[in-house]
Amino acid sequence: MSDHYKPFEPLVKRIKEDGKCLDGGILKVDSFINHQIDPTLLQAMSIEFVRRFATKEINKIITIEASGIAPAIMVGFLLNVPVVFVKKKKPSTMTGMYSTEVFSFTKNRSYTVCCSQEFLNEGDKVLFIDDFLANGNAAKGIIELVKQAKAELVGMGFIVEKSFQLGGSYLRNEGYQVESLAIIDSLDNCQIKFKEN
Ligand code: 5GP
Repeated sequence: MSDHYKPFEPLVKRIKEDGKCLDGGILKVDSFINHQIDPTLLQAMSIEFVRRFATKEINKIITIEASGIAPAIMVGFLLNVPVVFVKKKKPSTMTGMYSTEVFSFTKNRSYTVCCSQEFLNEGDKVLFIDDFLANGNAAKGIIELVKQAKAELVGMGFIVEKSFQLGGSYLRNEGYQVESLAIIDSLDNCQIKFKEN
């Protein structure tokens, strides 16, 4: 866990009000993050990400389509750096790219993610932003793409982390700065249990 994890209270409050628990340990936040988007909350969360990564030099934001794009853009806007979203399907026009496999547990299948070599460069200092951290497979895919580009992953920011899946502990053990705005310890019996400080 983060040394000084502090939940971002406006998000926790909103999840308590509007988050829905689905079978299989999935939290649905379609009414404010994943389908309909609350831009005011998104802005506040992005300011919080910028605050948490304030000591880091960052020249690019990276995310995976589709649901990471909105928070990534807002963070990129605040930092005035470009935002690259990794694609889940290789565009036919794209040559010269980095690619790797990612397993999605929500969809129960693997897919290839790719990024043009034009937009991820040696020496880039990249911050990864995504909506959820579960088993960390998306994050591992990003680590691999950044490695292929000889760029540097300076940190990872997630709106929601589910600590009963093991992505967070894996990534922190690997030495990454992982910042999650809300950490959920359990969704058992469709009760949302938040990690406290
Ligand atoms: P991971 O790769 O860390 O196992 O899973 C992260 C990805 O799966 C996220 O990008 C997100 O799209 C999706 N995901 C994982 N858990 C949840 C969840 O509880 N709710 C929603 N809406 N998406 C999730």
